[in-house]
Amino acid sequence: MEPLVGRSSSCLAQLMRDLGQPEYRARQLAAWIYRKRMTDYDAMSDLPADLRRSLAERYVIRSAVSERAAASKDGATKHLVRLADGLAVECVHLPYERRVSVCLSSQVGCPVGCTFCATGMGGFARNLTAGEIVEQFLLMQDLHPNRRITHAVFMGMGEPLLNIDNVVAAAHLLRDEVQVSARNLTISTVGIVPGIRALADADLAVGLALSLHAPNDAIRDRLIPSNRRWPLAEVMAAARAYRRATGRDVTFEYLLLAGHNDSAECARELAALLGDMPGAVNLIPYNPVEGAVAYETPSSARVRAFRAELEAAGRPVTQRARRGRGASGACGQLAGEAAGRRAPKLRASVSSR
Ligand code: SF4
Repeated sequence: MEPLVGRSSSCLAQLMRDLGQPEYRARQLAAWIYRKRMTDYDAMSDLPADLRRSLAERYVIRSAVSERAAASKDGATKHLVRLADGLAVECVHLPYERRVSVCLSSQVGCPVGCTFCATGMGGFARNLTAGEIVEQFLLMQDLHPNRRITHAVFMGMGEPLLNIDNVVAAAHLLRDEVQVSARNLTISTVGIVPGIRALADADLAVGLALSLHAPNDAIRDRLIPSNRRWPLAEVMAAARAYRRATGRDVTFEYLLLAGHNDSAECARELAALLGDMPGAVNLIPYNPVEGAVAYETPSSARVRAFRAELEAAGRPVTQRARRGRGASGACGQLAGEAAGRRAPKLRASVSSR
């Protein structure tokens, strides 16, 4: 049976019309599915019994289950989510002092094949539906009920902008039905230019996190295969257009790989590439990942020197805390848990992108 999750209120309104019900029932049903996170029709007390019966005969409410969880000492918890077809993805619950975030997957595997990423090494199975993306959020809230999840980042498995229709639909559902502020939604990309442009037109104004990881095409081509199709100049032009269209600063993610992209010269080149475009650079020292090409973590001194060069050029810099290491949930570390079950080898960088 088809799941109801993934359908907007207007979609549910059509369903109600088809069942001979008044449209306001759609709003009631959406509230049960997305805000009260009900998975049992019998508990939907303001819906008539015959409607609940009709729905139960035709639809399941959700289709995915959380199969396993691994918590790390810093409070992050990685969850393995099993999909209806037996494939699996991973997502991470990340509580902070003032907010609670979840990192969501958008694909089973990933077709991009970044050389530092175990998901990319493992290949691609399929896109997630909008419902499967939203289900990850709802499951995380079910399993961590004490604090409301306030933020969601699309930085798990997969390249979100290669699944743009479902990712945009999921972001709309999170904003309109689950009621997460669009300001608190962030979509990450390695620079899929048509996707960035489509996202700018999507009437969402979500945050965009652009994974650069290199200051020039020569280095970037070696790390991110899609750079050969959409080189840095095109990626940066699309990012500038995104900022103009949405009014939101882009965040630049930069994974530091010892000896590859972490020199002071690279930092200066990165500062020049960004020029006068506002937006912070988020530095992410590499975390070794089983199954990916062997890169090494840069020394702390090297990271400090890289950061200092950027700051000297006037660029705001943040450095991602390595949360979730104990749960294999830090950047590039969500490897392999979902592997081998009718799926390619999987990992999700939370985000190494
Ligand atoms: S870093 Fe992102 S885009 Fe690259 S292979 Fe991994 S999941 Fe795909």
